[in-house]
Amino acid sequence: MSKSKSSESVKVVVRCRPMNEKELAATYECVVSVDVKFGQIIVRNPREASAGELPKVFTFDSVYDCNSKQLDLYDETFRPLVDSVLQGFNGTIFAYGQTGTGKTYTMEGVKNDPERRGVIPNSFDHVFTHISRSQNQQYLVRASYLEIYQEEIRDLLSKDQARRLELRERPDTGVYVKDLSSFVTKSVREIENVMNVGNQNRSVGSTNMNEHSSRSHAIFVITVECSELGPDGENHIRVGKLNLVDLAGSERQTKTGAQGERLKEATKINLSLSALGNVISALVDGRSSHIPYRDSKLTRLLQDSLGGNARTVMVANIGPASYNVEETLTTLRYSNRAKNIKNKPRVNEDPKDALLRKFQEEIAKLKAQLERRTGKKNKRRHKRRGDCSSGDGHEEASGEEDEVDDNRIDYWREQQEKLERERKAIMEDHSLVAEEKAQLLKEKQKKMEDLKKEQEAGDMLSAKVRAMESKLLVGGKNIVDHTNEQQKMLELKRQEIAEQKRKEREMQQQMECRDEETLELKETYSSLQQEVDIKTKKLKKLFAKLQAVKAEIHDIQEAHINERQELEQTQNELTRDLKLKHLIIENFIPFEEKNKIVNRAFFDDEDEYWKMRPITHIEDEHQMMSRPQSAIGFRRPLSNHARMAMKDSPDVRYKAENILLLGMEMPSRTTKDYQQPVIAPKVAAALEDALKNESDLQVDASGFNSSFAPPASASGSLRKPKSARPRTGKQSNTWTSSFNVHNPPSPIYPQSRGLVPK
Ligand code: ADP
Ligand code: MG
Repeated sequence: MSKSKSSESVKVVVRCRPMNEKELAATYECVVSVDVKFGQIIVRNPREASAGELPKVFTFDSVYDCNSKQLDLYDETFRPLVDSVLQGFNGTIFAYGQTGTGKTYTMEGVKNDPERRGVIPNSFDHVFTHISRSQNQQYLVRASYLEIYQEEIRDLLSKDQARRLELRERPDTGVYVKDLSSFVTKSVREIENVMNVGNQNRSVGSTNMNEHSSRSHAIFVITVECSELGPDGENHIRVGKLNLVDLAGSERQTKTGAQGERLKEATKINLSLSALGNVISALVDGRSSHIPYRDSKLTRLLQDSLGGNARTVMVANIGPASYNVEETLTTLRYSNRAKNIKNKPRVNEDPKDALLRKFQEEIAKLKAQLERRTGKKNKRRHKRRGDCSSGDGHEEASGEEDEVDDNRIDYWREQQEKLERERKAIMEDHSLVAEEKAQLLKEKQKKMEDLKKEQEAGDMLSAKVRAMESKLLVGGKNIVDHTNEQQKMLELKRQEIAEQKRKEREMQQQMECRDEETLELKETYSSLQQEVDIKTKKLKKLFAKLQAVKAEIHDIQEAHINERQELEQTQNELTRDLKLKHLIIENFIPFEEKNKIVNRAFFDDEDEYWKMRPITHIEDEHQMMSRPQSAIGFRRPLSNHARMAMKDSPDVRYKAENILLLGMEMPSRTTKDYQQPVIAPKVAAALEDALKNESDLQVDASGFNSSFAPPASASGSLRKPKSARPRTGKQSNTWTSSFNVHNPPSPIYPQSRGLVPK
């Protein structure tokens, strides 16, 4: 890795979607205005406007209103980033915002509509067009697609959708997903297929796609490797990785009244998003030396993109309607902070894990093998023909494969024909004895089989080379129509216009700043009154600014309080959960067992899970690790005497190896199920009659104060326990009396050891 560059900020753009039909039907007010020229978003909060507060203004790198076209966004904002990925930088585009504000629309858009396609399909075209126009370069493009849902990573391209993947870290390449599948793609169509398969898998795993997509983060990864001959005469490989991230909806989960499982899910979604927020804050703060990347899977995976070596664009999506104003403001504040993150992008040159290098090496190896075969064959052929003058019979490796193949096929055919001829000659030769004939025929048959095998091996080798080579893309081939110069010009023009617009916007923003600074310096006052007037005007302006800043501080404080309350609520829920677990462990799991488990458990930092060591933990590594001398070759240790006896006497006493293995014999049952005694109806009626006037039994329950006791009915009557044997009057009396007489008023259950303090 080399070519370090100076740092640059994360680029933040904001896009406001149009009002949807529902919002229009409900005649919601539009509270967001977009100043494309200045790069400003102005939000008017109706609640605060009535209290006389000014609208809030946010400035970004660029902003897009509801009429913005997908292609405008691509040309102005995303194209430069994808271009740098093609040069070997890492790049990330992520869409942030409330559910339903257009994150998926911006990233994916409408598939079959060229006008409304999002950045992902547009980047496919861009990448393959670039490759088709390239010269003297070799490319390898591959794609992966994953999803993070409830802090679990799922490979959307894998066959086994139930499998969860883990994150790993390597000092040279950083954080990566272990066993994530990636597909080498040779054309736009192929990579689109990969995306479609992933999208299908995404919806398969969910009952409600809308809800699922608003709770999960989807990351599409395109890796472009490019090999080019350097000035040093060596092939150099640059690898650019493009992460396209559609984040989960950023709306507050408590607002939706989440509880139980849903809350757990909500905290996990929020975990990634709030960890993202914390990472952004820590990066921008400048004071904190620790950046909490490890707090969530998402932040670990995007570590490079936030304060790392990647180029990053964040698209903040917002809705214009008044009922979303709080969320809109939160999104704008969140993204406003992200503007200040500094990255240090650099080109990844000749990384160790470049797949292209492996492909090239493998192809070279296979070709050499093939050449050796064909070379050998040709030599033989030439010799056979007595045509030695044609030199060493070597083929030139490059570009002459077809000829090599033709030669090979010719050679096989000749060999086969020759063998066939020889076989016929043997058959027709009457001078040979039948036995001899059979022997010779057998030999020929074997030769033919060998020849066939060799031919097959050669075919396979050549097919493999072809398959591998077809994956490496070079310019000038018909991937995309590259001859269309007009289109190329058009693209260039669009880029120029986009650049112009950007410059204009930056200048406007700078001018505004400078205006305010220099206003006072330029002024010369003709009279005291004029000075007072102008200064009053200025004061008013500054006062308004002060008010705006104060309001902003107030808002942020309020947002912080809300967030804290939410966190506290989550913490309380989790503490309650923890208390229950403790209660169960402390009261229902024996101490020794608990200690055993505690001693076995260890925390795996890599996977961030508690894991158990195997049960048979041997203190001394060597103890019982090898079989004792007296047991070698036997099932169990045997004394010398036993060995001798085993050999000499037929006695079964020492036949240690001849142990009979018997199946377990199941004993037959000797008990019967319990059946209630049947009381003859007559007796029952008589009993009923006799007991008619008896009142309930009175029990003194004063000594029975356990909270586990069943609730006594108002009269204090003792009910028959469900599982007890049928109670006779006598039995219940003895129980009651023994309870009264012998038991002091103490709890009948063991006392809890109490909770371990937090
Ligand atoms: P999210 O992914 O943020 O939840 P979606 O991308 O699914 O939101 O957008 C919600 C709806 O709004 C979709 O029907 C989409 O077509 C529409 N939409 C979003 N942004 C725009 C836009 N800029 N122009 C037109 N329609 C949009
Ligand atoms: Mg979405």
